[in-house]
Amino acid sequence: MLACLVERLVADNDTDSIPDPEKSVDIHGVLKDLNIEGSIDYGVTAISLGSTDFGGLYSEKPLAVIRPAGADDVVRVIRRALESPTLTVAARGNGHSINGQAMAHHGLVIDMKSMADNNRIDVNVNFMYVDVGGGALWSDVLKHCVLKYGLAPKSWTDYLDLTVGGTLSNAGVSGQTFRFGPQTSTVTELEVVTGTGEKIVSSNSQNSQLFFSVLGGLGQFGIITRARVLLQPAPDMMIEKLLGKLRYLKHFRYEIDLTYMNFLSRVDHVEEAARGSGIWSTPHPWLNMFVSKKDIDAFNRIVFQNILRNGINGPILTYPLLRSKWDNRWSVALPKNEIFYLVALLRFSHAHPTESEINQMVAQNEEIVQTCIKNGFDFKMYLPHYNSTVEWKRHFGDQWGRFVNRKRQFDPKYVLAPGQKIFTRNHQF
Ligand SMILES: Cc1cc2nc3c(=O)[nH]c(=O)nc-3n(C[C@H](O)[C@H](O)[C@H](O)COP(=O)(O)OP(=O)(O)OC[C@H]3O[C@@H](n4cnc5c(N)ncnc54)[C@H](O)[C@@H]3O)c2cc1C
Repeated sequence: MLACLVERLVADNDTDSIPDPEKSVDIHGVLKDLNIEGSIDYGVTAISLGSTDFGGLYSEKPLAVIRPAGADDVVRVIRRALESPTLTVAARGNGHSINGQAMAHHGLVIDMKSMADNNRIDVNVNFMYVDVGGGALWSDVLKHCVLKYGLAPKSWTDYLDLTVGGTLSNAGVSGQTFRFGPQTSTVTELEVVTGTGEKIVSSNSQNSQLFFSVLGGLGQFGIITRARVLLQPAPDMMIEKLLGKLRYLKHFRYEIDLTYMNFLSRVDHVEEAARGSGIWSTPHPWLNMFVSKKDIDAFNRIVFQNILRNGINGPILTYPLLRSKWDNRWSVALPKNEIFYLVALLRFSHAHPTESEINQMVAQNEEIVQTCIKNGFDFKMYLPHYNSTVEWKRHFGDQWGRFVNRKRQFDPKYVLAPGQKIFTRNHQF
């Protein structure tokens, strides 16, 4: 995997390499008269940002990074890309993907965090919702809603420095999901710029096809420029009342008093420590899966107790989720069973990892996925990463046809989110 990354970087810098048709795009010429309020950056720092993510396993260089001032700039960029036969466009949230999902090889990366106007956070206290830009961080949503209004969305991710558009394109899960559903279940309206370059407001009752497609849609159908998220009064403290209703082994009870804000920001100190020791910026071959209850015992025996018997050098999260809290109309693929478990292998490497250390972690992830397939487990990868159409078809199962039709409808030239490696520009199904 690292070897791949190195090869791609070498090839990009090698002027004698075989000419790549995509490289012949005169990007300065193509974007010259693009009339946007924001900015276009061709500089080394911007390109480096656009070709980097938290996973640190892949690096795909874009030709330019766009910093839009608002949704209309996003419209202009997509329309310009459509005029070219090869250009692709990737929205980049906070780049917290693992496998290059927010990258665009020789395409355009839109830095959603820079959407000055659209990332405003507007609370409506009468109707109890917040309108928030697709590039806003959930940590900023939390601070704004709780500190100013004493209100908060119901459902979060466990870690909050992720963008609204980035998590809604997957689902957005945490320990609260079994009760409130994933973050996608708390959204009532989306403003989206589709792959045809149209800015469309959608909801359950208005342009509903687009609304449901985009939720969990891996960025394939449109770029989320605004989301309307339902709010509730923010509790002061988190868990005491819940424990009373639970049956559990008393000696497993672990208690700590935290304010609601501190509880939701609980991963911050982990990040701080990892940054301090240098392991926040090294590669992270993370694997996230949803595993059905019917197979979780066998998964425990084969994966946790055998393949992972020596640990993973990082936290393993696992908690149950309820399928009935998810909407079948969203694009996200789920196991069939009503109860399934998130299994998150959050691997860290050493501060100066060797290539073989990283490759071993990647190979072990692959072994786990193949083991699940071989044993016929009812499972899905969360934040999926596959390289071939055959694998994507298997991932979506009987929803594959619907996914392809949605792509044809909302991004018929396959311009958006090329880093997911589901569709290729110019290759029609
Ligand atoms: C430290 C860490 C903690 C995490 N914790 C959780 C967690 O608790 N729960 C959870 O569910 N996930 C978690 N994740 C995974 C996270 O949800 C995904 O990485 C997700 O992609 C969001 O990250 P991002 O905003 O940086 O998006 P990016 O990685 O930048 O983008 C992800 C994908 O979404 C697309 N995209 C980005 N913005 C938009 C937009 N506005 N409209 C349409 N498409 C868009 C991109 O093109 C790309 O395909 C975690 C990841 C990390 C690294």
